[in-house]
Amino acid sequence: MKENDAVGLSSLIFNIVHGSTVDGWGVRTTVFLKGCPLRCLWCCNPEGQKKYAELKYTADDCNGCGNCVPACPKKAISMTPGRDAKALIDRELCDNCMICADSCYVGALASFSKQYTVNELFSEIERDQGYFGEDGGVTVGGGEATLYPDFTLALIEKCRKAYIHTALDTCGYVTTETGMKCLEEADLVLYDVKGLDPDTHVRGTGVSNELILKNLRYRDSLGKEIIIRLPLIPGYTDSRENIAREAELISGLKSVKRVDIIPFHKYAEIKYRQLGWPLPYVFGEDFPEAREKSVLEVFLKAGINAQIGG
Ligand code: SF4
Ligand code: SF4
Repeated sequence: MKENDAVGLSSLIFNIVHGSTVDGWGVRTTVFLKGCPLRCLWCCNPEGQKKYAELKYTADDCNGCGNCVPACPKKAISMTPGRDAKALIDRELCDNCMICADSCYVGALASFSKQYTVNELFSEIERDQGYFGEDGGVTVGGGEATLYPDFTLALIEKCRKAYIHTALDTCGYVTTETGMKCLEEADLVLYDVKGLDPDTHVRGTGVSNELILKNLRYRDSLGKEIIIRLPLIPGYTDSRENIAREAELISGLKSVKRVDIIPFHKYAEIKYRQLGWPLPYVFGEDFPEAREKSVLEVFLKAGINAQIGG
């Protein structure tokens, strides 16, 4: 892609983490693109699922001033009764226009995302170059960054020209030619594997794992670095059989440098509330620590470089 072709490309970004140490090698800047083809029941970034802007409402920050009620053209906001009144959002009526956010001086109403061009995002990344050192760089994730293949590829290419190490954090459900190019071009790929049983995978994520595993083998065949991420989700990915099958699969891959075991945790609960979504039923307890260790043992015994966490 020519430099000028990238100028007009833009994407919704729902988070930029500066100084991350959990998204690949070294110290990194991680950008999260909004939109994902999967609907994992345990999703820890639910605000990254939809491709459009969504209203974020933090009830704890609401002071009950009521400014937002008349501001909403859809009459989607009312106030709870009583002395500790709070705004209530009717998500059926709300069309995410964000007009109310301007009337909320305490920031209880805001957008979950912001539109960036490739160049704007690159400028943010460039400012962080001081802490990248030899190992660090940029990680492009989401959501699923390959849903915006032209944007992601342009960003990867721009970083490469500036000698910035690139990592792609992907669910592997890559369906386009340019998306596959992103998978090829990133210096490192962080690749999610969400279980090997096909039916359980569909129940847990909404899609088949066939394409995901095919794309994993393709990236592996290129001989370019992969870190595999294995979420440990009770009832979905934590059976002995699944863990053994994952260890067997990974033992047969040549480009996997590390396996990160990611136990389920509940820290995303707040985001579901901010979106006005019900909590998925898997949000019961955090994954037991003792079981994390026994899962780790399986990989270590198979000679795989593995760790708990990213
Ligand atoms: S985002 Fe728009 S429609 Fe939704 S509550 Fe705010 S003003 Fe109303
Ligand atoms: S404007 Fe903000 S602080 Fe005031 S009622 Fe609405 S959400 Fe609450």
